[in-house]
Amino acid sequence: MNLNRNTYEIYELDRNQGKVFLTKENLLTLKEHSDFLFTVINYRWTQMLEGFNYSPRISRKVRAIDENNIKRSSLKKFHKHLDLMLVDGKRKCFYCDEEISENDISVDHVIPWSYMFSDDLWNLVYCHKGENSEKSNRLPAEEDIKRLEERNIILLSRMENKSKDYDHLQIAVEKDYVKKFWISFKG
Ligand SMILES: [Zn+2]
Repeated sequence: MNLNRNTYEIYELDRNQGKVFLTKENLLTLKEHSDFLFTVINYRWTQMLEGFNYSPRISRKVRAIDENNIKRSSLKKFHKHLDLMLVDGKRKCFYCDEEISENDISVDHVIPWSYMFSDDLWNLVYCHKGENSEKSNRLPAEEDIKRLEERNIILLSRMENKSKDYDHLQIAVEKDYVKKFWISFKG
């Protein structure tokens, strides 16, 4: 192990016997640098997960959870896509289907952010501000999941076929992320 130009021995290998030995000093070295090693292990673990499954930005999520330092960004940039779902020029609430006035508008993660650790168009809807805070971190009911799947198909058909957001939504629809994530979190 090389750290700050110092080389540390973290185990001894006896090739002839085919054995690995850990001494007390080795263990103390591991303990001393455990923060660093933890990050490296998480990184390798992330690479392995990415090999198995395409889920957006696994490495960022692992890092964010790990450092307990999670940045949440504004969801305003999703308005231009969500506005493709306007009915008679009005923004409708995903949950109660009533019109939402300009100052009561909120973008909601149907599968709560605390499960996803990311902002993905396939998981975002407009709703009334009050309803957003009321549902807090609960997983949605199956009807909401079904409606979100249907919404995504319509939204995809209304989007321009040449943006990164379009590509992400298309993958989400094809792979049915809505149902897959919901089922996996529900357990
Ligand atoms: Zn509402």
